[in-house]
Amino acid sequence: MYTGNCLCGGIRFSIDGELPPIQLCHCSQCRKAQGTPFAANMPIARSAFRLDSGAELIKEFESTPGKKRAFCSRCGSPVYSRRDATPDALRIRAGLINEPLAVRPVAHFNTGSKANWWTIGDDLPQFSENFIPQKP
Ligand SMILES: [Zn+2]
Ligand SMILES: [Zn+2]
Repeated sequence: MYTGNCLCGGIRFSIDGELPPIQLCHCSQCRKAQGTPFAANMPIARSAFRLDSGAELIKEFESTPGKKRAFCSRCGSPVYSRRDATPDALRIRAGLINEPLAVRPVAHFNTGSKANWWTIGDDLPQFSENFIPQKP
């Protein structure tokens, strides 16, 4: 089990089971939502996510129709995003997890809209759009 919290600690959650590899998203929405060159996201099953405190602090911003980005209304931490079309999934922001992770980033996504001031310095696969790689 993993635990996570926002910057102010008001929102606390637990995730059952192992976490999937981290997806690095360079899309302009993630960059602006995070204030960083890319977001580090992990898609998890909604059933594995338990909100332990702070339900009243969670606000959601609908950044594109049907896509909601959840954040803490007190400290501003991004927490997860979700899509109405895939109600069983949440995309958790990896930086909120407290424990060391067993998983590592798997690929860069949306590099077609990446910040021009950031140089990708690893050998991970890069996808110019939001392509999810198939397992070999
Ligand atoms: Zn907070
Ligand atoms: Zn993104």
